[in-house]
Amino acid sequence: MTMATPALDKLAAAPEELLARLFTPMNVDGVYGRTGAYEDVVEGLGRYISTLRPKGAEVFRFPPVVSRTLIEKSGYLKSFPHLLGCVCALGTDVKRVTEAVARYEAGGSWTDSAQASELVLAPAACYPVYPIAAERGVIGAEPLMFDVASDCFRREPSKEIDRFQSFRMREFVAIGAPQQIQAFRDQWMARAPEIAADLGVTHAIDAASDPFFGREGQMVGRFQTANALKFEMLIPVRSTEKPTACMSFNCHRDHFGEVWGMKTADGELAHTACVAFGIDRLAVALFARHGVEVGGWPAPVRAKLGL
Ligand code: AMP
Ligand code: ZN
Repeated sequence: MTMATPALDKLAAAPEELLARLFTPMNVDGVYGRTGAYEDVVEGLGRYISTLRPKGAEVFRFPPVVSRTLIEKSGYLKSFPHLLGCVCALGTDVKRVTEAVARYEAGGSWTDSAQASELVLAPAACYPVYPIAAERGVIGAEPLMFDVASDCFRREPSKEIDRFQSFRMREFVAIGAPQQIQAFRDQWMARAPEIAADLGVTHAIDAASDPFFGREGQMVGRFQTANALKFEMLIPVRSTEKPTACMSFNCHRDHFGEVWGMKTADGELAHTACVAFGIDRLAVALFARHGVEVGGWPAPVRAKLGL
């Protein structure tokens, strides 16, 4: 269900040109070194998004790794087990390490001896914030607001310019009573046209469901769509016909409230929502729309980004 489909403008740069000019290959699909010009735009986006930060939002920047139990407890394995990356290591057992290295040097694989650690790679930026909020006790009259970010990993190798295994995500998160959280999500969706205008890109808002894994997951996906829990802001990156999800607006209802025991003052389970900015997709979308030379971008867009 597409809610707004303005005429999507022509793109100034094709995927091949973007790949060649913005990135340097690192011999793994969806993993790139990024050029200085590209990072300048990423930093500009960071500055711009900070100007949108909800009043009173507390800022956290999380590392690219998260506790494995935190992600397990969050229910990630029920929905996207195929995307999750786990940190494995040889550990400190001298015999195990020596054997693994010897096997590698004889042409075999050292990783056969590696064991899963207590860490996974962060699949999204917002997961660590819920237990932090839960520690604070009952949520007061005003919803809690957070501005979080992290490098994220999803195991979806691809040669496409808009799908990385390693990418950056910034999120605004709200935790509070159901009506407050619904209002937060709706207000942010209502701001999508303003954000698109600031960035000089055309957009569409689409109801979405996450690409859940397996049968049970597909049912959750249908539930998401039927209950309008996830919307995405689509911006042309690879093509104007198939625009790319660059932001998402998500209602989790009482899922995290239940997992972490978060309650509002009236004793109800807290609801949560997050607004996610896919930083690398937004950056590539800007180059695709305005061209690979930032100097040639429209002055109002450069001004918004401080470039
Ligand atoms: P999601 O949690 O799936 O809604 O993701 C939030 C945002 O992260 C999306 O709207 C995308 O902009 C971005 N994102 C998700 N997966 C990828 C990926 N594989 N490569 C680049 N950006 C991504
Ligand atoms: Zn989130």
